[in-house]
Amino acid sequence: MPSDFIVFGQPQLSDEEISEVVLTLKSNWIGTGPRVKKFEQLFAEYKTTKYAIALNSCTAGLHLSLLAAGIGPGDEVITTDMTFCATLNAVIHSGATPVLVDCFADTFNINPQELETKITSKTKAVIVVHFAGRMCDMDSIQSLCKKHGLILIEDCAHAIESEYHGKMSGTFGVFGAFSFYVTKNMTTGEGGMITTDNQEMADKIKILALHGMSKDAWNRFSDEGYKHYQVVAPGFKYNMMDIQAAMGIHQLKKLERHWIRRREIWEFYNRQLQDLPLTLPLDAEKKTKHAYHLYTPLLQLEHVRLTRDQLLQALCEKKIGAGVHYMALHRHLYYQKALGISAQQFPHAEFISDRTFSIPLSPYLSDDQIDYVAASLKKILLRSLRPSKAVC
Ligand SMILES: *Cc1c(COP(=O)(O)O)cnc(C)c1O
Repeated sequence: MPSDFIVFGQPQLSDEEISEVVLTLKSNWIGTGPRVKKFEQLFAEYKTTKYAIALNSCTAGLHLSLLAAGIGPGDEVITTDMTFCATLNAVIHSGATPVLVDCFADTFNINPQELETKITSKTKAVIVVHFAGRMCDMDSIQSLCKKHGLILIEDCAHAIESEYHGKMSGTFGVFGAFSFYVTKNMTTGEGGMITTDNQEMADKIKILALHGMSKDAWNRFSDEGYKHYQVVAPGFKYNMMDIQAAMGIHQLKKLERHWIRRREIWEFYNRQLQDLPLTLPLDAEKKTKHAYHLYTPLLQLEHVRLTRDQLLQALCEKKIGAGVHYMALHRHLYYQKALGISAQQFPHAEFISDRTFSIPLSPYLSDDQIDYVAASLKKILLRSLRPSKAVC
């Protein structure tokens, strides 16, 4: 048993991030300033988009994407039932009516055929989520959006490094929304980014992210002299600070190295966890890059004498932090009531909700730690096998 709890989604920050934050603090410019600008430029370059706008979260990015696109009350926005609540909350906050679609049982990604059946004359936008870093079927989704004139938004919170047929995640629709929350593939503590090639949308997002003050209003205290601003819309307070961007600039440089380490851990788990009552995550699809954000096996309930929640508890007792990504949105009482939805409409997301669990995949983990995670999981599962259904 290790002396320390293995924290789920532990970030890997090192001296570069720490000294940049200290430099920022000592520069006396800790708010939105030169480091945010630099981070935006680096991110846009990385993503091959014309614009990248740094925000204080991905949730803010999803919200502002909808508002910038003019989506609001009376409009419908389609998204997946198998995602984090923030995706759906952003739609609700825009005033639009969310419409949820079931996912595939094996990829956890939205089913485009089912998506098409939900399109009505009120549908204005689609938000896809590249689950765990596996790209959605973007050929089908892009052509659906084109055919029906829908705004496509990619929730890339899991999918910073993902690519599909040679194209980066976050470049398929009008907007890509990224998260730099602590557990994500790169972090700024809290933070997010919107990518777009559309200048008008980029300008709107910038204005809405800072109180609705006219463009460049945040430069008003610079050494170029005081500038008056006009409030052109009742905006929000969604801007990123230089303290956060200080981390982001260096996290971005380490993205590939961290990705390689997570792939290594992912492949190690694949080898170690075979022949157990688990359905392991699918390999990366051909001509795509998987971001390896989450390792999400499904517990084969019919072969074991414990539930997924009991498994989580057993892992916790072994000092292993595990997660659940996710209890589908339809499992939450508020959404059931507010949207009038129930489990029967989402059989695959329902199936996953009872069986999925996520084990640590942080690049911070040592070989000994991942060995320990796999060995512990194996031990727990082997002692819980149903005798009649022993797997070999
Ligand atoms: C983390 C996450 C978000 C929210 O990101 P924040 O930066 O915390 O707002 C949105 N969607 C998905 C799928 C996520 O995993």
